[in-house]
Amino acid sequence: MSSAITTEAVPIETAHEDMIHEAQLDYYGKRLATCSSDRTVKIFDIVEGEPLKSSGHTLKGHTGPVWQVAWAHPKFGDILASCSYDGKVLIWGERSQGTVGGGWTKVKEHILHTASVNAVSWAPHELGAILACASSDGKLSVLTFKDDGQWGADIFNGHAIGCNSVSWAPATQPGSLIHPQQPGTQPAAPFKRFASAGCDNLVRIWGYREDTQLWVEEETLDGHTDWVRDVAWASNIGLPRSYIATASQDKSVLIWTKDSPTSPWVKTALDPSTAPGAPSVVAGKFPDVVWRVSWSLAGNILALQKATQKHVARKLRKATLQLGAWNAHRGLATPSGPYDAVVIGGGPGGYVAAIKAAQLGLKTACIEKRGSLGGTCLNVGCIPSKAMLNNSHIYHQTKHDLQKRGIDGAHDFVRSFLTHSDGGMLQAKEQSVVGLTKGIEMLFKQNKVDYIKGAASFVSPTRIAVELNDGGSTEVEAKNIIIATGSEVAPFPGGAIEIDEQQIVSSTGALELQKVPEKMVVIGGGIIGLEMGSVWSRLGAEVTVVEFLGAIGGAGIDEEVAKQFQKILTKQGIKFKLNTKVLSADKQDGKVTIKTESAKGDKQESFDADVVLVAVGRRPYTEGLNLEAIGVEKDNKGRIVIDDQFNTSVKNIKCIGDVTFGPMLAHKAEEEGIAAVEYINAGHGHVNYNGIPSVVYTHPEVSWVGKTEQELKAAGVKYNVGKFPFAANSRAKTNQDAEGFVKFLSEKETDRILGVHIIGPNAGEMISEAVLAMEYGASSEDIARTTHAHPTLSEAFKEAAMAAYGKAIHF
Ligand SMILES: Cc1cc2nc3c(=O)[nH]c(=O)nc-3n(C[C@H](O)[C@H](O)[C@H](O)COP(=O)(O)OP(=O)(O)OC[C@H]3O[C@@H](n4cnc5c(N)ncnc54)[C@H](O)[C@@H]3O)c2cc1C
Repeated sequence: MSSAITTEAVPIETAHEDMIHEAQLDYYGKRLATCSSDRTVKIFDIVEGEPLKSSGHTLKGHTGPVWQVAWAHPKFGDILASCSYDGKVLIWGERSQGTVGGGWTKVKEHILHTASVNAVSWAPHELGAILACASSDGKLSVLTFKDDGQWGADIFNGHAIGCNSVSWAPATQPGSLIHPQQPGTQPAAPFKRFASAGCDNLVRIWGYREDTQLWVEEETLDGHTDWVRDVAWASNIGLPRSYIATASQDKSVLIWTKDSPTSPWVKTALDPSTAPGAPSVVAGKFPDVVWRVSWSLAGNILALQKATQKHVARKLRKATLQLGAWNAHRGLATPSGPYDAVVIGGGPGGYVAAIKAAQLGLKTACIEKRGSLGGTCLNVGCIPSKAMLNNSHIYHQTKHDLQKRGIDGAHDFVRSFLTHSDGGMLQAKEQSVVGLTKGIEMLFKQNKVDYIKGAASFVSPTRIAVELNDGGSTEVEAKNIIIATGSEVAPFPGGAIEIDEQQIVSSTGALELQKVPEKMVVIGGGIIGLEMGSVWSRLGAEVTVVEFLGAIGGAGIDEEVAKQFQKILTKQGIKFKLNTKVLSADKQDGKVTIKTESAKGDKQESFDADVVLVAVGRRPYTEGLNLEAIGVEKDNKGRIVIDDQFNTSVKNIKCIGDVTFGPMLAHKAEEEGIAAVEYINAGHGHVNYNGIPSVVYTHPEVSWVGKTEQELKAAGVKYNVGKFPFAANSRAKTNQDAEGFVKFLSEKETDRILGVHIIGPNAGEMISEAVLAMEYGASSEDIARTTHAHPTLSEAFKEAAMAAYGKAIHF
């Protein structure tokens, strides 16, 4: 391997207001098109070696970040295509200068896709003006400019979860240089063929059948273990061999070769560890994800591009590369700051704090090492678990409930698919996660938060070193720092059970099971254990929950609610072993044997499961932060110690969310994020810890806020109880979903609401009314005298308040 020689680079000030995603020179290298998160496309005239004089043309039409631009062959005119997060492909044309209305105009708006369009690519000019597009909706589309001046469009399923990239096969037939056309014979018609890369880890090759006028999948290249980010088909001068390069989230770049049109594709992984001066990496793996691959015109040079930091990418460098052979480039990494506020961790606490800080005018950056924003909650917690809960509930209802609702027959056809070529429950879950995590990136861009992808470690109380995900490192200077590094799965106490995420799983593995286990044991009857147990029970697993305590639901649940909850879940088929301690879980012959002992220690038992879920809690995560070096104090549970203004023991460093005290909940972390920033900005902020609701998203849902009956008794507070069953609520009865009740606890003397506990349909939504009431210091009479629409479930809430204050009407 030889090194790259880079000629003098000419900086081009594009004046884009946000990150640039793509820059494409036209066919003659005379014009440059750029596109950006600022939703515009810009076109500049290039004079070789000279700084840019004009500010270029700005093309406005997209309503989201513009990911790619592509020039059509000049024989079709001055035509440029662009694609965007807004789901549109726009085709722009230039009218001749000097004519009325001259300049760039939109000539076609392609809006067949229902999600972000990630890539566009023009076919070889011999085939005509044809554009292939790849979208996050999982579909590929092909736009064809027809003889009648209209555009035709084909759209078809490409890749489950989403399509990332497209690349056309060259129009030259492989081997035609060696076996030229025989005199007197017709030249072979050019074929329409392209490759697509997707989130199903595959590259698919599509060919157009003239007879059926359909695009059909011809071949599948299966070699990556994670999303394929980009695909590039090398041009061919007529030699027999074809090349395709692919780059994936799995950090590998594969070169696929096909020796002749009839031989199979053979893959070779590029090995960056053999490059001179390369960082030590696993053979065949790059230190981080390669996002783009691109062949030189002759198809003998491949350029690789890794992700670049936003603060580097705003200025473009136009460089001529003269590569003798493969070479890997390290990304640029410039120190940045000083920032007014830097947040470590992009979970619900961290990203909300960062957005709020930027909204208040603070120059803000957020450092996140996961590679996507949203933290535990969006990636492996709240969101994927709710996707699985919702979809398994729909499946269960459709299968078991339709007949009693007067809908017949459909249940015979209902089968649950975890994975399926047209998508399945796991893909549906993944789609929710990707959509929402990408949405936060958008919010960062809109609010001008710098997103630094990497692992943060303190150098001093105002300086942070970041190991960039992209390779290399940088340092960030900040006046204020907020630690929001969250939590991780707590291991089984004493290390007696080892999580392998296959047979013995944490919540993360329980969200990824590829088939429904016959028998599942859940260790821990708290919120996460009950939610995940419900999912797999609905899908057909025999689920047993083992809990050390005498009740389910975890900390803060009212005893009466916990009992009712257990009854309902038992009716649904979940078994419970309460007051029982798990001693061990041993894997043998594809099964796991669980040994338990009664809490009193007088009875031992042993039973088998296919999968064991360890749901015994989470613990604060501070690994790699180097807190000891700067003196940030932790308690004996590993939580960062803070005062009531979120200050740690080090001046100007605050801490919020799961990594410090309080319930490990996303909305608690968010509230703290906002309050911590308000302390930085204005010297005051506020979180009402008595007004933080808890929700269990089973069916029925369980929710609560404030004090439980047992807490009030223990504190000697005199109180009234008002209860109303959903069985007496007209809407719940009509919905045939009437299990559970609403329970109000109000102070005897003042009638002030002290706690509300709900088990029943939509309890998770309904609890917000209780939170609001308590936030305003309401009495149960205030609720009882507030009109609630009829017929709604919330009338049960009003009636429970009436029962606490006086008497319910309907019960
Ligand atoms: C299965 C499951 C279901 C859940 N369901 C719910 C629910 O329904 N409702 C609810 O309110 N809560 C739920 N939770 C809890 C919720 O996810 C957490 O309370 C919430 O995510 C905490 O937010 P956070 O910002 O404090 O931390 P996190 O979300 O954990 O985010 C911290 C981030 O910091 C990053 N990080 C750590 N160290 C560094 C470093 N040195 N440099 C850079 N980045 C770093 C991590 O990569 C991580 O992305 C659930 C949790 C699980 C596991």
